[in-house]
Amino acid sequence: MDKFEKNLEREVTAMRECYRSGKTKQESWRRSQLKGLQTFLKEKEVEIFRVLKQDLGKHYVEAFRDEVGLLRKSLNLALKDLKKWMSSREVKLPIIALLSSAELVPEPLGLILVISTWNFPFVLSLEPLIGAIAAGNGVVLKPSELAPACSSLLVNFLPNYLDSEAIKVIEGGPAVGEQLLQQKWDKIFFTGSARVGRMIMSAAAKHLTPATLELGGKCPAVLDSLSWSWDKEVAVNRIIGAKYGSCAGQVCISVDYLLVEKTFSSTVVELMKVLIKKMYGDNPRESHSVARIINKHHFLRLKNLLTDQMVKDSIVYGGSMDEDSLFIEPTILVDPPLQSTIMTEEIFGPLLPIITLDKIEDSIDFINSRPKPLAIYAFTHNEVLRKRMVSETSSGSVVFNDAIIQFVADTIPFGGIGESGFGKYHGKFSFDTFSHYKAIARRSFLTDFWFRFPPWNNYKLELLETSYNYDYFGVLLVILGLKKSRRRFDIN
Ligand code: NAD
Repeated sequence: MDKFEKNLEREVTAMRECYRSGKTKQESWRRSQLKGLQTFLKEKEVEIFRVLKQDLGKHYVEAFRDEVGLLRKSLNLALKDLKKWMSSREVKLPIIALLSSAELVPEPLGLILVISTWNFPFVLSLEPLIGAIAAGNGVVLKPSELAPACSSLLVNFLPNYLDSEAIKVIEGGPAVGEQLLQQKWDKIFFTGSARVGRMIMSAAAKHLTPATLELGGKCPAVLDSLSWSWDKEVAVNRIIGAKYGSCAGQVCISVDYLLVEKTFSSTVVELMKVLIKKMYGDNPRESHSVARIINKHHFLRLKNLLTDQMVKDSIVYGGSMDEDSLFIEPTILVDPPLQSTIMTEEIFGPLLPIITLDKIEDSIDFINSRPKPLAIYAFTHNEVLRKRMVSETSSGSVVFNDAIIQFVADTIPFGGIGESGFGKYHGKFSFDTFSHYKAIARRSFLTDFWFRFPPWNNYKLELLETSYNYDYFGVLLVILGLKKSRRRFDIN
């Protein structure tokens, strides 16, 4: 237990005093911290690749694509657009506020608690940190104890690049998390399970603290029969890449299961076998491109999903595993029973159930009869199906003809709905998540519309109604007596 945890209350009070000094609100402070993060990523890049390999078996190219590269991109954007994000935006007030002006001024929320998880230990910790810093907040970050080498690197080295009065990184598991939750924060940003998400919400409720919950769930992919051999190959390649090619499927927006028409399923399975071999060779265990399961607990959880009596006969490809190296082969199942655990709980690993349907349109009811997912993927040329997928389902995002690509974008918000969480971030959305848009309204003393004050009569009602419709000309006509009141009430 380090000094911060022992004196948690005192340390948080000191951080709050630092925030109150106004230091973190300065644009120069925000820039210097974002640049500090840039330098950290640059100087510690090789170390980051090493600990990601150690904790998760991630290849350094995957680590660059999913973590370091994304963070560099986010930092470049934040530094480029910071001034624009920080500036206030002018808005109009209604006619009744004659001679006025108004603006929205973004202000930081104060002290932010970020609790993150292990599958993308850097991006899920530092992406919210970038938003919180850009918005001018003080931050306490607690990475996950389940990726210990990554967490240690963050705790031991990140503070050297940042203002340690305003930004702290704390190592620890649930006990430390619970201790942190007892403090009062101005926002809690949590990434992890719905189970812990519920605890976060009840702790936040105690202090009326707003929270963002980035949770998980089962993200479906719908694969229409498609038209040609090349589009089938592109679609299946992207599905495999999303399922097995990113942290061995331990991804909140991975393809959890695939919905296809019965008549198309054997074509899909055969194509998958060929393309999996193309990515990982004949012996995936020897491949440097297959990430490992995070720990024994999750390995055994996944093993249980596969050895479940109900699903054993559904395995059509893969299924081999090695507990010592925490390796699980990319595995395909066809039609495991819908009541089996693999179809009722988030898989979070390299196992892909394919569920066959009579017709692809049935996928909409299938998805709607389950909790709202973080993402829905649909591979199709069918414009009617696309429109229905957008208008008749509910999810954090919908992606057509690809998967996971939405996480890379900073022009669209990332976040869930319902059981998959709430709140959003990435790019400017991160800045907004950690800002309060303060409403500023200014009036001149010079003049007033008399009809906003008593005594009341129908003439004033007419004027109020016309002005609330932003009808300047109408207001003028009523005042000049050229338009008569249509509304009369006989109520005293
Ligand atoms: P978890 O909920 O067990 O842990 C997440 C964090 O919460 C860790 O830092 C942990 O130390 C902390 N924690 C655990 N118990 C706590 C407590 N009682 N009080 C305070 N803090 C506590 O996370 P997990 O189950 O290992 O993560 C996997 C889940 O996260 C999956 O459901 C996955 O889909 C989801 N996820 C979501 C996203 C997203 O961006 N939406 C990203 C990655 C993972």
